[in-house]
Amino acid sequence: MAFPTVQVFESYADTAGREFDAVILLGDFAQTVPDDFSEYVAQALQFDARVGKQALLVPADVAGGRLITAPTGPLTRDYDDVRNISDAAGAAARIAQQAGVTKPLLIVFGVPSEARYGQAEAVAYWGLCQALYEPLEAREHLGEETIETVTAVGVVGALDETWLQAVEAGKRVARDLAGTEPERMAPPRFAEYCQQAFAHSPVRVTVIDDVQQLQHEYPLLMAVARASLGVERHQPCVVRLEYKAPAAEQTLMFAGKGIVYDTGGADVKTGGHMAGMSRDKGGAAGVAGFVKTVAEMRPETLNVVAELGVVRNSIGADAFVADEIITAHSGVRVRIGNTDAEGRLVLADLLSHLREEAPDYPRPQIFSVATLTGHAALAKGPYTALIPNGPARVNEVTEKLWEAGEVYGDPTEISWSRREDYDFVRPRTKADDTLSSNNGPSATTKRGHQFPMAFLAIASGLDKHGTDSQQPLPYVHVDIAGSGVEGGDWQHGKPTAAPVTCFAGCYLHQ
Ligand SMILES: [Zn+2]
Repeated sequence: MAFPTVQVFESYADTAGREFDAVILLGDFAQTVPDDFSEYVAQALQFDARVGKQALLVPADVAGGRLITAPTGPLTRDYDDVRNISDAAGAAARIAQQAGVTKPLLIVFGVPSEARYGQAEAVAYWGLCQALYEPLEAREHLGEETIETVTAVGVVGALDETWLQAVEAGKRVARDLAGTEPERMAPPRFAEYCQQAFAHSPVRVTVIDDVQQLQHEYPLLMAVARASLGVERHQPCVVRLEYKAPAAEQTLMFAGKGIVYDTGGADVKTGGHMAGMSRDKGGAAGVAGFVKTVAEMRPETLNVVAELGVVRNSIGADAFVADEIITAHSGVRVRIGNTDAEGRLVLADLLSHLREEAPDYPRPQIFSVATLTGHAALAKGPYTALIPNGPARVNEVTEKLWEAGEVYGDPTEISWSRREDYDFVRPRTKADDTLSSNNGPSATTKRGHQFPMAFLAIASGLDKHGTDSQQPLPYVHVDIAGSGVEGGDWQHGKPTAAPVTCFAGCYLHQ
């Protein structure tokens, strides 16, 4: 795993004599530029009015003879946030890479001392890494050293190198797993990637790939997988990741949607809407990424248990179809409304397993993470949607995630679960207990990203663990359909690794 390693310095003076080959100066250039660079910036400005307005490389008497100015623009308006910093770092990183820089020194200046910029330097480092990341297929074909040429970054600030790199290691796993084409990341190879990513780490990886066992324990997941069983390399698996803390006080439990390819199934995606559906595994990828950060940080008091449902939603003679009634792991009878609403079926069985084991762990919180609905992307744009149940509201789980997302540059928005959502998936007769989906596109369905959370709660049995129950279980559904890839471009956008940084900031960093 090669991403730019980080070296932290207390001050610019401490970097003297180090082998950096450029300086990236990042900040709001309308504010005072640090003394060490003000002369070079003023000189450059005489020749180029763009200095301080867009990212540029200018000659200067600094390391490598190159100063890359990376303006953030204003930072103090109501609607500014720390992504101004990561965007500027990304623009500078691309210039550095193209210019042949391999070891830039990053200096962030003039950031307002407000809570929203409390992690500015860390966010700048991650923004730089995001911009420099190359897809797994490209690295495997062309060689990592050939195309990822920036090898190290110096950062001036009060920072923890281990923490910065642990988050980036997690994000890299998430991007690799989410972005890769459907054969390279077919279920068995997804599992193999996870085994390699967690080798020699404190995380235990278990792969359940026995078809009979899966049919018995994950019946909804296996309905989705049915048309894929005839092709051995497409056969499904559940990847279980477990981290046991030495002195556990709290437990995070994740279900991750890992649809390695979504044809829609018998309700086949038409009109060109299939391209990009190799990215429908972004939820499982994000969970694996967060667990990678956990493996690096080795928290003292936090357990993590994750189940990733890695399945190809294929189409074929044995494909499941709408109207089938399938009894879930929870015992709930699910009427299939549309086979393209497959992610929630996979998640419901995973969540049901987590629900069963939750009492064995201290203070469990349960999450489902998925690229679930076009509606989330429509309603939230590039923000992760968080939908809490009652106990999660009482414990302010989503508020804490929201705050972390703002500070660490992986923002979210909260949606509410309502009675209309439960009514939408109610059984119409005694033949079943719930309906998985309607038949319109989620993006034209009212409450199209909220109502699936009601289905998940019912089909997994978590609806029996509300605030009014004997055993309340905090549960949050996390929809990354809008935040999982850059620019919302599922086919070509670079995976963002959402919500790795948000969860890491919330649970692993004080
Ligand atoms: Zn689908």
